[in-house]
Amino acid sequence: EHLTSQEAARGEQEMELSLRPQRLSQYIGQGHVKKDMEVYIQAARQRDEALDHVLLYGPPGLGKTTLAFVIANELSVSLKSTSGPAIERAGDLVALLTDLEPGDVLFIDEIHRLAKPVEEVLYSAMEDFYIDIVVGEGQTTHAVHLPLPPFTLIGATTLAGQLSAPLRDRFGIVEHMQYYQVSDLEKIVLRSSEVFHTKISPQAAVELARRSRGTPRVANRLLKRVRDFAEVKGEKEISLETTTQALKQLQVDSAGLDQTDRKLLRTMILSYGGGPVGIRTLASNIGEDRETIESLYEPYLLQNGFIVMTPRGRVVTQKAYQQLNLPLPGDEA
Ligand code: ADP
Repeated sequence: EHLTSQEAARGEQEMELSLRPQRLSQYIGQGHVKKDMEVYIQAARQRDEALDHVLLYGPPGLGKTTLAFVIANELSVSLKSTSGPAIERAGDLVALLTDLEPGDVLFIDEIHRLAKPVEEVLYSAMEDFYIDIVVGEGQTTHAVHLPLPPFTLIGATTLAGQLSAPLRDRFGIVEHMQYYQVSDLEKIVLRSSEVFHTKISPQAAVELARRSRGTPRVANRLLKRVRDFAEVKGEKEISLETTTQALKQLQVDSAGLDQTDRKLLRTMILSYGGGPVGIRTLASNIGEDRETIESLYEPYLLQNGFIVMTPRGRVVTQKAYQQLNLPLPGDEA
């Protein structure tokens, strides 16, 4: 049978839902974020008040959405979920806000992509729990001052730097999500394989964890693919051998870099002598949009020392040449 891309996307979404931890105690990794949130959640519960607004930032797939749902669960409140680009007009946001019960969570993903007029409605809503709206037409237009129930806004963004200062300043709690350690990703892989009713050898789980770009979403996606290979081979337990074969087929290298990571490094080396290269030049050369490079690819390559930032742009390191098996400049015979 053949899946349409829509069906495939829905399948992926369903998988993510089933794999999502529900409680803070099941949420793996992000130790310092969890510790902070435990305190703030408990304090809000004891005071019987809405939790302060929370901004979660960090690369895609690190568990920001998951954490937002966990927080609402721990507060025993409902969560309404939307995203920056989905709220087209101020009226759309007003409808969302007036629909909240006291203490509820409004989750806005990609909050750096909110339209300016929408963002401006948020200011008074966040700060003093009211909105001023204009109703009526022509001669009868008048402003209405509309109080809102106290609520918690949880915003998620991959590019905190793109948030305007007035919006950023209205979040009382700001948490930076970090890439996961291999040991935490290993736990996530083991937990997900249980949800899938699939057995995986400990060595295979570590290998998957090592090659998942520090990202739970990638770990889960790779696990799903590797499971396909193991099932076709008739394996009862996913082996290390099958895992390495599958990862090779999927073009994930020994450091967990994917095709686009390598394309980016290769372009910098072969077309720009290793850099410095500006972001726009790089984006148009590898055919990815700037935001994807800045939020998804670059942070991982920076964190792992394949590139460094200089005032004149990004530059590849020796480690990048070695990973791609390319001769260092000056080494060519
Ligand atoms: P983001 O919102 O940051 O892009 P998500 O919250 O959608 O990331 O997480 C992607 C997937 O990774 C989720 O479906 C979940 O299965 C998994 N995941 C993320 N964080 C964790 C975690 N701490 N523990 C277990 N699984 C996680």
